[in-house]
Amino acid sequence: MNDLLLAETDVSRLKSDSNFPELSFNQFRYERPNIAKATVEFDTLIAEFDAAVSVDEQNDVIARINKLRDKIETQISIAEVRHSIDTEDKFYKEEQEFVDEATPQFGELINRYYKHVLNSPFRAELEERWGKQMFDLAETAMKTMSPEIIPLLKQENKLISQYNDLLAAAEIPFEGKMENLQGLMAYESNTDREIRKKAVNAKFGFFATNTEEIDDIFDQLVKLRAKIASELGFNNFVELAYARMARTDYNAADVERFRGSVLKYIVPAVSDLYARQQKRLGVEQLYYHDEQLIFSDGNATPHGDAEFILNNGSKMYRELSGETDYFFQYMMKNELLDVENKKSKAGGGYCTNFAEYGAPFIFSNFNGTSADIDVLTHEAGHAFQTFESRDFDIPEYKWPTYEACEIHSMSMEFLTWPWMKLFFAEQTDKYKFAHASHALTFIPYGVAVDEFQHWVYENPEVTPAERDAKWRAIEKKYMPERTYDGNDYLENGGFWKKQRHIFNSPFYYIDYTLAQICAFQFWQRSLADAEDAWTDYLKLCKAGGSMSFLKLVGYANLRSPFDEDCMQDVIVKVIEWLNGVDDNNL
Ligand code: ZN
Repeated sequence: MNDLLLAETDVSRLKSDSNFPELSFNQFRYERPNIAKATVEFDTLIAEFDAAVSVDEQNDVIARINKLRDKIETQISIAEVRHSIDTEDKFYKEEQEFVDEATPQFGELINRYYKHVLNSPFRAELEERWGKQMFDLAETAMKTMSPEIIPLLKQENKLISQYNDLLAAAEIPFEGKMENLQGLMAYESNTDREIRKKAVNAKFGFFATNTEEIDDIFDQLVKLRAKIASELGFNNFVELAYARMARTDYNAADVERFRGSVLKYIVPAVSDLYARQQKRLGVEQLYYHDEQLIFSDGNATPHGDAEFILNNGSKMYRELSGETDYFFQYMMKNELLDVENKKSKAGGGYCTNFAEYGAPFIFSNFNGTSADIDVLTHEAGHAFQTFESRDFDIPEYKWPTYEACEIHSMSMEFLTWPWMKLFFAEQTDKYKFAHASHALTFIPYGVAVDEFQHWVYENPEVTPAERDAKWRAIEKKYMPERTYDGNDYLENGGFWKKQRHIFNSPFYYIDYTLAQICAFQFWQRSLADAEDAWTDYLKLCKAGGSMSFLKLVGYANLRSPFDEDCMQDVIVKVIEWLNGVDDNNL
């Protein structure tokens, strides 16, 4: 191990002691950031940075710039979170519009600062102080931004918000009630096949009805992104997207090889799993609308409501470790979780943070299925990591890049297995089998989304119909058994339009599949030695974003998911575990 790597792995020297005001979420004061004022402040600080005659003086300016960044970022997060909690709230809807406009400008200010940091005469000393990763991130970020593209970035944000608002506003008549997209999901695992089929048809009926508007939004997004990439000097948006995702240690060719390994090792294993499911359900043909029902007499469901889940979550995190106990009590006490499905609440689930308060936030829509527990473990995994990383003195290290982030969340789903009986009681084994199966069946879908996006942005001029046809072809490659039972919209390749990431965060999807291969490793290690697995998991969370993805993987004593042998070994063990379960008797 060379000196640089040694220096990089000592993450504690990049942190100060916790010193955050502790308030509950509702007490967080929101005031629209003044970007014009911030611009003057940034430029003044940058001038001071340039005039500094020592590295200490420059470090002092960096600290003040970071304070300003934390302040603005916190206000942006508050606006986004409150808008997502009630997309019809007029005040925060306007603030979200402001955020869409302001974030590109704010991003440009950070890049101005990066330019000066990268060109500092004290660069070597700064790198020694802050670690090489900050400079790699700054260099990558520089490539993704220029003042000329700010109007285009604002347009991009606006289109994304248009898509999100359209989905959040969905009111779909179903079985005599009005449901939103999130609410419909619960019916997809109903034991009555007719209801499942109706739920799938109702959900995609919404997408079919709005297909023209969604196609139009996406077409504009693709062309806009191609234009942004070309203005920045990239050959296409794929290259820009990798830079935006701050991928510094792998490229599109590595990802392509990874997808090839998925096709070789995982797709056949998933076919076997679907064959077992078809047998369990006692159906002649497993249709898409059967996929969510894992057991013919019903999936495992949590034995209680949100309060029950959060109370048992407290017990689980108390028993798991001192760190998780402190973290979860903090979240509960300060109302940093909004988990119930409500009308006009945005869909999905996410975790974010408020840098000024050192506080994470968890957002989700409970629907009475086992997915509610996945929120408590998945989103809490993200939140726990950023909580453990909140003392980093620079914002860049409070989160790592996304594929590393998903290791924290997806591994937490497995590391909390010993407590699943609190939620599922006699159905615990059902839950575990379904969870492990889903972790595997998800991967081919994940790489399909990734391959689709590569194709879309390599061919920005194709028509919406050609995009749908391509999606259907990729689906057939990675999910050969998927059968839509005559649903024209899905047969014609419309499925991908419900996948928010494709619109909101392009190329953020392979991240889940890379992370899953890492999470499987934590799972397998925890089955052999839970304490040892936890020690490395905690170490990984505390390292935050101070290293690149593959360095973090090595730091946590995991093998690289790009290593084909690793993929093969990991998957063989997953299959062994799944084959060891007598699923017909669960
Ligand atoms: Zn996640």
